[in-house]
Amino acid sequence: MTWTFPTSRISHDGAGTVALEICHRVSDYTAVARRRGQVFWTSSALPDGATALDVHCPVCMADRGLTVSGAWGDPAELTCLCGHSWTPLLPGLPPEQLLRQLVRLALGGPIDAIRYRLIKVDAADTHPNPLQDAVRPVVDEAGRELNRRTWVFDDDESSIASDLLTRAGLREYWSPQALDALSRQSRTEEERLAWVVDNYRALAACSRSTRGRLGLFLARAASRLRPIGVMTMDDLEPGVTWSGVSPVLEDARGALGAVHVVLTAGATGNVDY
Ligand SMILES: [Zn+2]
Repeated sequence: MTWTFPTSRISHDGAGTVALEICHRVSDYTAVARRRGQVFWTSSALPDGATALDVHCPVCMADRGLTVSGAWGDPAELTCLCGHSWTPLLPGLPPEQLLRQLVRLALGGPIDAIRYRLIKVDAADTHPNPLQDAVRPVVDEAGRELNRRTWVFDDDESSIASDLLTRAGLREYWSPQALDALSRQSRTEEERLAWVVDNYRALAACSRSTRGRLGLFLARAASRLRPIGVMTMDDLEPGVTWSGVSPVLEDARGALGAVHVVLTAGATGNVDY
């Protein structure tokens, strides 16, 4: 189980919206001020006029103190205080959406780092970067060839690289630091996701119409970054990052950024990085 947390009450409106109440013990949050018995509440509300239907245990009917568990993308599993476990099926809400909604409600927004560590079982300070790891060998190999001048962009390659960078809102004469700063400009998570998916698709399309060393580089990179092409908001598991966006999105952005750095280096001939 990736996420697990006790709740006070889970209710829904019968139409796919859920509300959550959690009673937090202060002692979970601060080692210094351990004043016994002190609590505070997190709660969310259903839409105006909605009737609150409590989620309850199918065996003992308990509707308070249910624990939510599950991995991101999997159905939620609930456990009552007696130890009965079940996967609730709520009208208008796929079971895996229930887990995602409850996690987002429990974290609040913007994400509270302490709550995150309390409810994420394997919470780590550094998040895994599967896409950056996947594309790194391809990027490193290209970087070495550029650096040794065994691969020098011809005019066609420079023009293709320049088109891709322009589409991404980048300029080929910018430094890697400037590219990085640009891609971290404040945007909504939806806009960042759209940018990442759009630029991945441009890369993949370009790889199919480009020959030679650049075509090979683009094809290898696109193949390793394929998960970006089908990424949706549902894939963006919350996590604590300094930029405030999902670690999944940070990883995708970083992986595409590494490809853009190679394109920039090749197009400018500034390959001593
Ligand atoms: Zn029960």
